[in-house]
Amino acid sequence: MQKIFLLFLATLLSTHLTATELSHQWIEEYIATVPDFPKVGIQFKCYPDLLKNPKAFRRVIQTFADRYRGSNLDAIVGLDSRGFIFGTALAYEMNLPFVMVRKAGKLPRRVEKIDYELEYGKASLEMEVDSISPGNRILIIDDLLATGGTAAAAAKLVERLGGEVVEVACLIELEGLHGRKNLKKPFYSLVSIEVDE
Ligand code: AMP
Repeated sequence: MQKIFLLFLATLLSTHLTATELSHQWIEEYIATVPDFPKVGIQFKCYPDLLKNPKAFRRVIQTFADRYRGSNLDAIVGLDSRGFIFGTALAYEMNLPFVMVRKAGKLPRRVEKIDYELEYGKASLEMEVDSISPGNRILIIDDLLATGGTAAAAAKLVERLGGEVVEVACLIELEGLHGRKNLKKPFYSLVSIEVDE
C-alpha cells in the first residue's frame, strides 16, 4: 500500500514539474499582436502588460536564470533595443557583465561593425571592440526571433571579437520564418508563435 502511495506521489510530482518547468504557455496571455505595424503585412508582437507586471516579468527572468545558471557564462550580450530589457535584468540576476550590441552610430568608442541583410534592405550592428575578451562564453539575448538575421549578425560580431556563443535566447520565436535555420546557433525561446511566411 505504502509503495503504491509513493509511486502515486512520484508520478504526481513529476507531472507537476514537467508542467511548470517546460510549459511557458502562460506568457502568451501577455503577448499582443498589432497588425500592419510598422508596415503593412507585419504582425507586430508586443508585451507591455508583461513588463508592467513585476511578478510575471520576474518569472520570465527567473526562468532564463534557471536555464543558464550552470552554463559558466562570462557575459550577456543584449541586442538593441528590446534585448536590453531582458538582458540587463538577467545579467543583474546572474551577477554577470552586460554588453550592448547597438544599431550603427550609437556607440561612441571604437567598434567592430557588421552589415547584414534585412527582409527588405540592409542594416548594421556594432559592438565595442573591448566589450568582451577572447574565449568568453556568451549568451546573446533579444526579445524576439523572426528571420534570425539580427541574431545571426550579432553572433558573428561576438565571434569576431573572439567570443563563443553558448546560446541565443529570446522571449518569443516566430515559427515559420526559418529563424533557427538561419541562425545556426543553439537557440532557446520561452514562447513559439506560428506565423505565415
Ligand atoms: P529578425 O532579424 O528578422 O529575426 O528580427 C528580429 C528583430 O526584429 C528583433 O530585434 C525584434 O525585436 C524585431 N522584430 C522582428 N519582427 C518582429 C515582430 N513581428 N514583432 C516584434 N518585433 C519584431
